Amino acid sequence: MRYAVKTENLCFSYETNFALDNVNLDVPEGVLFGIIGPNGSGKTTLLSLIMKFLKPSQGRIEIFGQDTRKLSHRALARLVAYIAQDFNPAYDFSVEEIVEMGGIPRYKSFFDSVVYEEELRKALAIVDLENLRKRPFSTLSGGQQRRTLIARAIYQNTPIIIADELTNHLDLGQAIKVMDYLKSLTKMGKTIIITLHDLGFATKYCDLLALMDEGRIVSVGRPDEVLSEEVISKIYRAKVRVIKTSEVPYPWVIF
Ligand code: ADP
Ligand code: MG
Repeated sequence: MRYAVKTENLCFSYETNFALDNVNLDVPEGVLFGIIGPNGSGKTTLLSLIMKFLKPSQGRIEIFGQDTRKLSHRALARLVAYIAQDFNPAYDFSVEEIVEMGGIPRYKSFFDSVVYEEELRKALAIVDLENLRKRPFSTLSGGQQRRTLIARAIYQNTPIIIADELTNHLDLGQAIKVMDYLKSLTKMGKTIIITLHDLGFATKYCDLLALMDEGRIVSVGRPDEVLSEEVISKIYRAKVRVIKTSEVPYPWVIF
């Protein structure tokens, strides 16, 4: 099996005492892979290591079998589009300018500035932003800003998309639309890795889930394997029930 992303014995610590401890993660190509876990469990840290925003203290990361230490940032940006949890542009760009930035890794030189208009329009349409193309980013609502960044990642047209807290700020309809679209990308062989808090979305959409707690991966597998009542209740410190019924093709987490 070809792996889109693979981490081996990945360790990292901040100056505070939090550490990612020996994280081994295998993300097969072509799946929608969800990373869940309580606040502070290390999800963003793990994604930041994959994106080379942080350097591991031990271990290694491969993207399609290539060690990320040997990949330039540009080469990485041709393979992975990243949607960060928070984004504050240094200058008040318009929606379309931000989406166009997703095209930069494809430019032949720094001075090149091709706009792939048809792809741009399609990316904006997927997140219903065609009418807000010219609007300054700062004047958008949280959900519209989030959708702009999703459009930028779509426009970047990479084999892998990684999104931290993908559905943050999205209303139910928009979240469903974006998840349906990402799922359709996996059918075309793309790999999507997301962190999310909504366990309902996690079970419905993700092919595989990794559950993190205190810097470790506690379990990995299909949603019905990972979402056990005991484990989820213990890790989230909240009593939940997981219902499996023939009426719904995925487990239901209720609380
Ligand atoms: P998650 O995304 O799962 O909520 P994070 O990876 O953001 O978790 O954080 C994991 C732990 O690392 C938390 O305890 C957090 O306080 C700590 N942490 C995150 N970023 C920093 C930082 N820049 N400096 C020090 N500690 C950090
Ligand atoms: Mg986080």
